[in-house]
Amino acid sequence: MVPLSQVWTVASYVIGKKLKGVKRYPLVLMLEPLFRCNLACAGCGKIQYPDHILNRRLTPEQCWAAAEECGAPIVSIAGGEPLVHKEIDRIVEGLIRMKRYVYLCSNALLLKKRLDLFKPSKYLTFSIHLDGLKEEHDESVCREGVYETAVEGIKEAVKRGFRVTINSTLFDGANPERVRAFFDEAMRLGIEGIMVSPGYSYQKAPDQEHFLQRNKTRELFKQILKDRKKSWKFNLSPLFLEFLQGNIEYDCTPWGNPTYNVFGWQKPCYLLQDGYAKTFKELIESTPWEKYGFRSGNPKCANCMVHSGYEATAVNDTFGSWRGFAKTVKATLSL
Ligand code: SF4
Repeated sequence: MVPLSQVWTVASYVIGKKLKGVKRYPLVLMLEPLFRCNLACAGCGKIQYPDHILNRRLTPEQCWAAAEECGAPIVSIAGGEPLVHKEIDRIVEGLIRMKRYVYLCSNALLLKKRLDLFKPSKYLTFSIHLDGLKEEHDESVCREGVYETAVEGIKEAVKRGFRVTINSTLFDGANPERVRAFFDEAMRLGIEGIMVSPGYSYQKAPDQEHFLQRNKTRELFKQILKDRKKSWKFNLSPLFLEFLQGNIEYDCTPWGNPTYNVFGWQKPCYLLQDGYAKTFKELIESTPWEKYGFRSGNPKCANCMVHSGYEATAVNDTFGSWRGFAKTVKATLSL
């Protein structure tokens, strides 16, 4: 279960922003301290960068300054593979000192080796990339044996008292029954919960064929989430899961998950690269937000239903009004 203190922190943060009349505020900082990875997945748009970019790193000081500047209560450290960064322990330690809830996203290849660098804390969660059962995951990351290594890493982290979630991206051709079996297996590992999102066709990703379209996404999630098992716990807003099944219409709020990486603040979101801003303030003030999201008619957003665009919308809906809160309670009780 997500600790109550985290739920409370997020709820009071959203309510505080609403009371102050702030229209656009960040919920999760997507921090990419490097693009270098120890895998080369077909669905990844980051590892295509040339070596001189892949060799660049954000310093711990730059990471803390970005967190300070935007103020989001949650920081998701992605990449690249964060455990490849030589100062990842300092980055995490500093963010925890700032009382940010840190989700350290990792493919877990180095997890067992690097666990000693970290201490269990309610502020730290390892969010392990697993796209399915062994066959599907190894195919997704284009390497045999990665699933087994990741599972070993997860078990060790759970044993040592760390918070652990899994982070799954589903692509076209995903088999709902296999995904359900995967959720069963993942929960048996003792993880706190599952984060799941449909894939988005990165312009830079080499594999453009296997990304889901909007209607297919809804159908797939309806199949997966019908008769949802009580044993499945999700590290997601219940309303985001309703959205994925087509039961609620939302538009994207990309400022909810701003991205900071070696180029600066990325416009407008984690997925698109329409320029960079030097400061968070500049990102918020200079991005033409009306040109993004499903309702904008922007073809790049037409089929996007990803977690980093829509989870913040769902959380804003949950804590932004009594109606939204009531919808969340209803969605939770109907599980
Ligand atoms: S809809 Fe998707 S691609 Fe478009 S701005 Fe939102 S997150 Fe980015």
